[in-house]
Amino acid sequence: MMKLVFATNNLHKLQEIKHLLNGSFELLSLNDINCDEEIPENQETIEGNAAEKSFYIFNKYGLNCFADDTGLEIEELNGEPGVYSARYAGEEKSAEKNMDLVLQKLAEIKNRKARFKTVISLVIDGQEIQFEGIVNGHILEEKRGKTGFGYDPIFQPDESHLSFAEMTMEEKGKISHRGRAVQKLVEYLTQFKTE
Ligand code: IMP
Repeated sequence: MMKLVFATNNLHKLQEIKHLLNGSFELLSLNDINCDEEIPENQETIEGNAAEKSFYIFNKYGLNCFADDTGLEIEELNGEPGVYSARYAGEEKSAEKNMDLVLQKLAEIKNRKARFKTVISLVIDGQEIQFEGIVNGHILEEKRGKTGFGYDPIFQPDESHLSFAEMTMEEKGKISHRGRAVQKLVEYLTQFKTE
């Protein structure tokens, strides 16, 4: 069975992907490979950060690997917060403060179009391939809902009248940026599957 590292410490993401891969790969977390250092994310694009993370693991541990990076892109803010989504309102990475800053910047602004973009970088035997997932929507006037994380309470996808934070994990996963990128990854990986 092929070993595959998912370069994350987020247990929620790990469980979700394990479920989708359905036992066809030996999926390893950073913890499983005893990698406890901070993985560099110094690039200025979502694509660059995803690649930096997956190549870091491949080069250091010699293991096939994938990594993801996500950003919220708001049209009227020229694509901000984008690659800076986690630390938009400061290094403490507070979701509440990040949302407050977005709402403040969009006060009085009519065009509230936004999208989430996830890029997954997969490195197999030193060759990289990327998978992208996008969900289009808009920024609400105020926070709504309690589930999810990050910017979920202020984002409503075009496919729904609910914010991401008013959906169950399953509902969100079907249409979300990350869900869509993961579906493409899983489809691609089926060629490496062994029983
Ligand atoms: P990461 O690259 O997955 O760590 O995401 C970077 C940042 O984007 C997170 O800290 C969140 O602020 C935001 N983000 C990523 N995915 C989501 C999501 O599904 N909903 C809301 N915010 C998200």
